[in-house]
Parts: sequence; structure tokens; C-alpha cells
Amino acid sequence: MRNLTIRKNIGRINNTCLLCDLVKQEREAKERVVLENDVFLSVCAYAAKFPYETWILPKSHLPIFEDGTEKTLKALAEIIMGTLRRLDKVLPGAAFNLYLHDAPLFDRNHDRMFDFHIEIVMRLSQPAGFEYGSGSYINPMPPETAAQNLREVG
Ligand SMILES: [Zn+2]
Repeated sequence: MRNLTIRKNIGRINNTCLLCDLVKQEREAKERVVLENDVFLSVCAYAAKFPYETWILPKSHLPIFEDGTEKTLKALAEIIMGTLRRLDKVLPGAAFNLYLHDAPLFDRNHDRMFDFHIEIVMRLSQPAGFEYGSGSYINPMPPETAAQNLREVG
């Protein structure tokens, strides 16, 4: 119960949405941006666990995937395909996982300080002893370099 209370309050410390803040900062910095359209931003994750880990985030607050409009879905399909095309040009034929993260159930009836987003994780390596033992990941590819590579193959 205590953990749930702490989680509910995380976004309320600054009274902002963490992922909306992330989108704002990434759009200002530009160095990890891969693609952008009217509705979404595709970026290489700041603290990527794996090389070319890419996130697709809504540019305005949208906690729940199912609340998206037809325009939202079309823009999401376009940016997913554009991002995957670039990843396939840089890493031909590489396997990947694509995750959709929706607002947590506990936040759906509260302030919704979370945005649904997509995470694409390329399956280039497997976690080994260090990762399993420490819970930390070694990623030899800086996300800024990965994003630059993905922009250049566009
Ligand atoms: Zn948000």
C-alpha cells in the first residue's frame, strides 16, 4: 500500500507529467531525436539499456493509447514505420521487440501523470552476468550517436 501511495505522488512533486517534460527537453536538445511528426516524437532513449533503444512519445499529453483519435493512430503508424525503416537500414534484418506502455491502472482515475508510449528494443545482445548481477546494463552505443546514425539514413 505504501509503494502505491509513493507511486501516485511521483508526478505530483512538480505537478507535471514526467514524459511531457521529457518530450519538451528532447525537442529542445534535438541530439537524440530521430523523427518527428505533428503528433509524435521518436528519440533514442537518454539512458538506453541497449544500443538503438528508441522511444516514440506523444508530443502532447495522452496517457491512454485507446483515447487516441484516428489522426493519432495514423500519425503513430507513420512514425513507427519511419523509425523501423531507419533501424532496418542501420541494422539490416536485426530482430527487435516493440512495447506499448499505457498509463498504469492506478493512475487512470487520478491525475494521469504519464503518457502512453512505444519502446523499441533491438535484440543485438543478451544480458550477461554483469547485467543480471548488478541490475545495470552496459550499452556501448551513446544514444546521441545512434540517433545521428538513424537521422542520416533517412
Ligand atoms: Zn504527459
